[in-house]
Amino acid sequence: MKFATKAIHAGQHPEEVTGAVTTPIFQTSTYSNSKLGESKGFDYGRTINPTRSALESCLAELENGKHGFCFSSGMAAVHTVINLFRKGDHIICSDNVYGGTYRLYEQIMRNYGLDFTYVDTSDSELIEKAIKPNTKLIYVETPTNPMLGISDLEAVSKIGKVNNIMTCVDNTFMSPYLQNPLDFGIDIVLHSTTKYINGHCDVIGGCIVTSDEALADRIKFLQNSIGSVPAPFDCFLILRSIKTLSLRMKTHNDNAFAIASRLLTNKKVIKVFYPGLESHPQHKVAKKQMRGYGGIISIDLGNYENAKKFCDSLKIFQIAESLGGVESLVCHPPSMTHGSIPKAMREEIGLTDGLIRLSVGIEDIEDLLEDINNALK
Ligand SMILES: *Cc1c(COP(=O)(O)O)cnc(C)c1O
Repeated sequence: MKFATKAIHAGQHPEEVTGAVTTPIFQTSTYSNSKLGESKGFDYGRTINPTRSALESCLAELENGKHGFCFSSGMAAVHTVINLFRKGDHIICSDNVYGGTYRLYEQIMRNYGLDFTYVDTSDSELIEKAIKPNTKLIYVETPTNPMLGISDLEAVSKIGKVNNIMTCVDNTFMSPYLQNPLDFGIDIVLHSTTKYINGHCDVIGGCIVTSDEALADRIKFLQNSIGSVPAPFDCFLILRSIKTLSLRMKTHNDNAFAIASRLLTNKKVIKVFYPGLESHPQHKVAKKQMRGYGGIISIDLGNYENAKKFCDSLKIFQIAESLGGVESLVCHPPSMTHGSIPKAMREEIGLTDGLIRLSVGIEDIEDLLEDINNALK
């Protein structure tokens, strides 16, 4: 089955009692046993829920994986992955990782004896140089947020396999429609389903997908033991949203490409970061592993004052954190999403005070271009 068909049918079968075409919301915390010791495979809502199971199967198929697991947030998914490791383990992580992931690693997990090294994972040599005898995981985000750096998934997976190190990719920015890390030999893929997968700015959620049986058993154990599972209603909403994921992603892609190309020609824009542009330093790698370049564009407007004026002048683009929804959003990462990263470290990766991130929605492109043009003026 191809992507759009899987998005509508995978994991979703007519309900057994009534034949309901849409997977119902099984709003229950527990399940009755007909006789002592005889269950229907369902015992307790944290452990298993049919609405969640449908979503988990669907996401696993969309990522070309065997096992899916859903969580109450993207951070809960990241936290579950990191709980695969123990005191004394070392983790190599993209230096331009999602701010919340950096905060979890540095301010919480370090206290439990985990060690982290941050490198520019778009440079495979830097990953290899960072490997220590106790390195257990290479954690990559590609494209990165908000600089949109690209790491070579094939190269990362190879380094992992040669050195017997697990690899995990945060695929949130691409959605499974545009990139499938498991196809390149990556062990674990995770998403904040809050973003493109749900896509309507009305649910917080996360997921993990893997094809490795032993890893799947451990993740299932952690999901049940830690307990950061999503509500059945949230699973229903995400499942509903996934049905239009391919349509939405096509438009996000087309709109962002048109806007990035237009921004390139405006003298007030000092720099445009978008993997679809030939000027992007890792454009070739992007072309190799992505089926489109996504809906996120970052631009450098030189300084905070320009950035503020631009944000305040936009009318359709709303000033808000988050991304990947049908509505266009603008964000100033240094003061919003990436505020928890020290300024010196921000500037090291090019995240200057003039940086603006656009999450391009699926509105009519003419309106979006006009809004941006007016704000730049
Ligand atoms: C939003 C985001 C997360 C965290 O997900 P939440 O659903 O907000 O907890 C993790 N990684 C990336 C790349 C994100 O954009």
